[in-house]
Amino acid sequence: MGIIKAKNLIYHYIKWDEEEKAEEISEAVRDVSLDIETGEFVAVLGHNGSGKSTLAKHMNALLLPSEGTIWIGGMDTKEDETLLEVRRTAGMVFQNPDNQIIASVVEEDVGFGPENVGVPTDEIWRRVDECLKAVGMTAYRHSSPDRLSGGQKQRVAIAGVMAMEPECIVLDEPTAMLDPNGRREVIRTVRDLNKEKGITVILITHYMEEVIHADRLYVMDGGQIAMEGTPEEIFSRVDELKTLRLDVPQVTELAYGLRKKGVPLSPCILDTEALVKELVEIKRQRTVQ
Ligand code: ADP
Ligand code: MG
Repeated sequence: MGIIKAKNLIYHYIKWDEEEKAEEISEAVRDVSLDIETGEFVAVLGHNGSGKSTLAKHMNALLLPSEGTIWIGGMDTKEDETLLEVRRTAGMVFQNPDNQIIASVVEEDVGFGPENVGVPTDEIWRRVDECLKAVGMTAYRHSSPDRLSGGQKQRVAIAGVMAMEPECIVLDEPTAMLDPNGRREVIRTVRDLNKEKGITVILITHYMEEVIHADRLYVMDGGQIAMEGTPEEIFSRVDELKTLRLDVPQVTELAYGLRKKGVPLSPCILDTEALVKELVEIKRQRTVQ
């Protein structure tokens, strides 16, 4: 069993009327099964309302399944006894860094979580040093979070989650409120956590260009997993992605169009550099012939 495994997970939000009768039921997650291995970098894509956040909240027991089961580190999230352990195993990073930063000095904010659960002081400082370094924010350790850019704040929030030493980190649209620079900083940080620290990463986003480095993607639609595969596999199904209302990166769409016209490009081109390289090679081969 992987570090996160869901089997036939269903979740409905219920709105109660005054007589405590269920008035309205909206099924936000419909029969989702997935398996994520330790050390994987998995991205979950989907347009607004497709059920991504509802699924994410099951990954550290903020929501419990209406039907079906989800296991985190082998623990069923419905078991009360292991609830804290589930939350320790999977850390969550949300959209808005302002809601996640508590202290008035960066280093205190990062140390807040471990302090709260009684980690010894020396160990707290060791973790604060290590986590700030990992997200590239050591130079700002004595700063006030108010003075940081959105991307920097989000990196501090990530360091705060890391300081709890979770085995996996679930990030729910961590770049949604950031400018392009901030987005790049955060995505790079997340990649490093995965590659260098071996932390399992679940990155939820609706920006396709953020998922090209993931090992595997799930695409959600209407509460279900509509597609699953490597970025190369998924990105080569441009027409399907468009029916799921996802924005395909321009360069990928261009390459797709060229392929349809008979240019022998590889099935999926994810960035301009790759496209140029392949086109130059095709041109070179044609000149030789
Ligand atoms: P996403 O994160 O992909 O935008 P969500 O998981 O937030 O999707 O929402 C999935 C569906 O559940 C949507 O139809 C949304 O309107 C509904 N939903 C989300 N949160 C609530 C809530 N607290 N109460 C009722 N319905 C909700
Ligand atoms: Mg959401």
